[in-house]
Amino acid sequence: MKDHAELAEKFNRDEARVDWHDKTLWFIREKRDKAAWQIPEWEHLRETASQIKNNVLSNLHDYLLQFETKAQQNGITVHWASTPEEHNQIVYSIIQKHGVANIVKSKSMLTEECHLNEYLLKQGIDVVDTDLGERIVQLADEPPSHIVLPCIHWKKEEIGELFHKHLGTPKGNADPKFLTAAAREHLRQRFMTSKVAITGVNFGVAETGEIVVCTNEGNADLGVQLADVHIACMGIEKIIPKRKHLGIFLRLLARSATGQPITTYSSHFSKPHDGQEMHIVLVDNGRSERLGSNDFRNALKCIRCGACMNTCPVYRRSGGHSYHYAIAGPIGAILAPGLDMKEHADLPFASTLCGSCSNVCPVKIDIHDQLFKWRQVLVQNGNTSTTKKIGMKGMNFVLSNPTVYKIAGSAGRWFMKHLPFVVNNKLNPWYKQREMPKPPEQSFGEWFKKNRKSS
Ligand code: SF4
Repeated sequence: MKDHAELAEKFNRDEARVDWHDKTLWFIREKRDKAAWQIPEWEHLRETASQIKNNVLSNLHDYLLQFETKAQQNGITVHWASTPEEHNQIVYSIIQKHGVANIVKSKSMLTEECHLNEYLLKQGIDVVDTDLGERIVQLADEPPSHIVLPCIHWKKEEIGELFHKHLGTPKGNADPKFLTAAAREHLRQRFMTSKVAITGVNFGVAETGEIVVCTNEGNADLGVQLADVHIACMGIEKIIPKRKHLGIFLRLLARSATGQPITTYSSHFSKPHDGQEMHIVLVDNGRSERLGSNDFRNALKCIRCGACMNTCPVYRRSGGHSYHYAIAGPIGAILAPGLDMKEHADLPFASTLCGSCSNVCPVKIDIHDQLFKWRQVLVQNGNTSTTKKIGMKGMNFVLSNPTVYKIAGSAGRWFMKHLPFVVNNKLNPWYKQREMPKPPEQSFGEWFKKNRKSS
């Protein structure tokens, strides 16, 4: 079983990388703040977006059927998948029908969630991710570590090495402009020859049956325009009721994600172009179940901007891979346990509960409240380690009994003073990366008694 603390410890071994990762993400958080402050109605936008999403969640069934009907009227084939396996099989069957072995894909966290690349590779289909960051992690045989900045944990020198190995660029050249040009040349060939293009979906408009895909590189447009078949993979929560609502979400999304006023490309796909086939695969994968849960349904409002990751002190200093789920950070920590409580029982504890994630969330998801609620659910369901269970029972006994509490306090102070290794050893995770403070001479109770008397 993977564990966030263990994986974070691995990431923390490279202190320089941690510092730089932390600073880079904080820089993006600051850019987001500046972009938000430039809009006087920012809080009003957040509230409106949140209310629209509440409306969507309360009427999801109707909006999805409306979306399906409109999309079909536009000449799009709509598929429904309840599980990742079903999603992957549907995508494969479309590709198979066209006898294609090489396809291009623009960034889609849903396909990461469904492990589509691995599945298609097993069927002999070569998928090339065309977003630069995604291509870098794909060449490195790694999952993305951030939903907007997939290779944020990579240094440019390392990317230079990677490109030298896979794309034949000169050794030692780590110039970002040069590397971007090399990637563009490498990808252009695939764009020109791929008959099938897969995209994700940022928004599906129920009123019109169209989808909107946001990219900064234009790779979704290029892939789709050159392909005979467009397959769009969409989580069922991506619906918004009307086209006029897009203005609200697009303004919030780009500013929250990177501090840009708008994503470079906001591409609308409403029907297949002449001679093209277009498919939309609507995926549930636990979303309906989440919808039925009062405590956790709000997580479905997420528009995947990544702002909660950029601000999270734990994410910034533990890295995206420590979350061992397709979506990292605070939002991943409340989505993952809903899919597999046992496997992801560690994630809601990977938080300080400072609430910064909820403060920046453009659709006002109560992320830190949900993290806290997940902890309670996990404990109630017995999904905590034996040492923690014993520890909590012990603490319960000590804290609910004043005499035992006093004895334990003076014993602890005595041990820390005379035999500090009993507390400060490698078995104590708190001690591993901290310098323990000097033990106080007396407890607060003793100090209070003395000082109250003297005053
Ligand atoms: S939870 Fe909110 S802040 Fe985090 S990715 Fe989703 S929309 Fe953005």
